[in-house]
Amino acid sequence: MKYDKLVLVLNCGSSSLKFSIIDTVEKKVYLSGLAERLYLKDTRLIWSTSHSSKKNIILFNKEIDHNEILKIIKKEILFKNKELFNRIGVIGHRVVHGGRYIKKTTIIDKKVISHIHEASIFSPLHNPINLLGINFSLENFPKLYKRNVAVFDTSFFYSMKEKSYLYAIPYSLYNDYGIRKYGAHGTSHKYVCMKASTFLKKPFSNINIISCHLGNGSSISAIKNGICVDTSMGLTPLEGLVMGTRSGDIDPSIIFFMYEKLHYTIKEINELLINKSGLLGLSQSTSDFRDLELNYYSDERAKLAIDIFCFRLRKYISSYFSLMDGELDGIVFTGGIGENSSLVREKSLKNLSWFGNIFVDYKKNNNSFKKNDNLIIDISKNSNVPILVIPTDEEFAIAKESFSLFF
Ligand code: AMP
Repeated sequence: MKYDKLVLVLNCGSSSLKFSIIDTVEKKVYLSGLAERLYLKDTRLIWSTSHSSKKNIILFNKEIDHNEILKIIKKEILFKNKELFNRIGVIGHRVVHGGRYIKKTTIIDKKVISHIHEASIFSPLHNPINLLGINFSLENFPKLYKRNVAVFDTSFFYSMKEKSYLYAIPYSLYNDYGIRKYGAHGTSHKYVCMKASTFLKKPFSNINIISCHLGNGSSISAIKNGICVDTSMGLTPLEGLVMGTRSGDIDPSIIFFMYEKLHYTIKEINELLINKSGLLGLSQSTSDFRDLELNYYSDERAKLAIDIFCFRLRKYISSYFSLMDGELDGIVFTGGIGENSSLVREKSLKNLSWFGNIFVDYKKNNNSFKKNDNLIIDISKNSNVPILVIPTDEEFAIAKESFSLFF
């Protein structure tokens, strides 16, 4: 059978689902959509196609789960754009955790499914939902059965050496159970590095970047010669920077204190560290960075949360300088916060000039950018190291990786 070259991307998150139909050769998005507020009473589905400027919206007055929304997307969107649907030759799925065994983008078969299932222990909020999308696709699009591809957030980090991925706990925990640093956001870090390599006119295999993906989840990676040498997320996406609702780095003794002295259950501690900490926990008001920024000068706690976010980021950026052996081609900011918050970029890079002439141009930094997929902005001034703001595009990156396995 001859397959056409469009890629359907399914990115199933814990409470949202993004989908698109992309031509990676022409770099064209034919259709893209988002289902958000799943499992809440006001789920909504928004999508648009390239041949019309109209934004289509369906508002639901009831809770919708992933399976139901996938059925609606198939019937109301994919099948109603039959001509486009028939040109899909590959389906790319985002999968958060590849676990011990899957190290690269892979065509999905039963063995891959069982490995993704097994890795759910390290990513209980995401892998089961990712699998749900995969199973739906296998059952509902039989002509493309053997053309489903899993793209893992962890793949980019398998290049790390033992010295960065091992924790200083008994080696047997790694050997017997795979306890190690796996990282996350790999698709985004790799994508913005590729963009940076084009922008800086330096081959990807020679590019040296510190990449900051700052959004609801945040992580930072040190990339040397196109290969990740360290990253802030760990066994799970809980380690590292301060995040919207996740704590990032803490002393593990805090967990014992909560368990033994405060009598929290393990489940409650898990919930506290994943959903009630980070910016939300510190500010006691919201996990939304934009809202905190609006209140930076009027609300002490909002200021504190942002200051701690930037302080931790600064510490990581500074420590990653030391991993670059004096060769740094750029610092990249991406993600909802990285792309939009001039305050974060300024605070995290302030007074770093002694590291090698790193200067932010405050005027360029403060210009609010119109989000445009092709726009990369260098906000540095008289700096040895370019400071780049690069919009990430995980869907496009997933499409490209998936496409590359067949064409
Ligand atoms: P993401 O997870 O990449 O979608 O990023 C979401 C985060 O980006 C949220 O905390 C938003 O409040 C934040 N964000 C989005 N737009 C802005 C903006 N213009 N200024 C500051 N933060 C923003």
